[in-house]
Amino acid sequence: MSAYLDRIELTRTLPCLAEPGKVQIVGTPSRSLAEVIPYLATLPGIVRYNPETVSLTFRRRPGFLTLLADKVTLTQVTDPVEGAAMLENLTAAINATWEQRAELAAVTRSARTLRPLDLYSLLPQTNCGECGEATCMAFAAKLFMQERSPAECLPLFSDPGFEERRITLESMTA
Ligand code: SF4
Repeated sequence: MSAYLDRIELTRTLPCLAEPGKVQIVGTPSRSLAEVIPYLATLPGIVRYNPETVSLTFRRRPGFLTLLADKVTLTQVTDPVEGAAMLENLTAAINATWEQRAELAAVTRSARTLRPLDLYSLLPQTNCGECGEATCMAFAAKLFMQERSPAECLPLFSDPGFEERRITLESMTA
């Protein structure tokens, strides 16, 4: 039986704004992850799963792993070498999950074990006030309560350096 996935190629490395000195990485899978993500959603450590948008975020210690159909992002990675090894391990884990899918029940309901601090960790943390809140923590609390949306944090959208954080934040709050 052939493996689900050949590889996840490391396609981008960005400075990790949550932890200076570390990087966030973006991987591109050799095949869409859409079919396997509902089975990966049976694994522990899920922060947010949305079957409609096929987006799945796991909490790492530290950071997050987000899987979309066409993209994988990892925050707070030591360096690109560690990132490439993590993508290799992730490919193996995805293939193992796919092989065991007959014993798993694909998850079709959304899941959320989010904490306000998870959201805060992905905001710029500059307390610039552009969103109308006094602090990023206040904005994170309102994001958590679903009273605000990531799009209302303008720096997240205007600074390309925040792109991967924005994608993770949007998948968590969608
Ligand atoms: S606009 Fe964004 S960076 Fe500025 S205070 Fe609000 S949440 Fe923080």
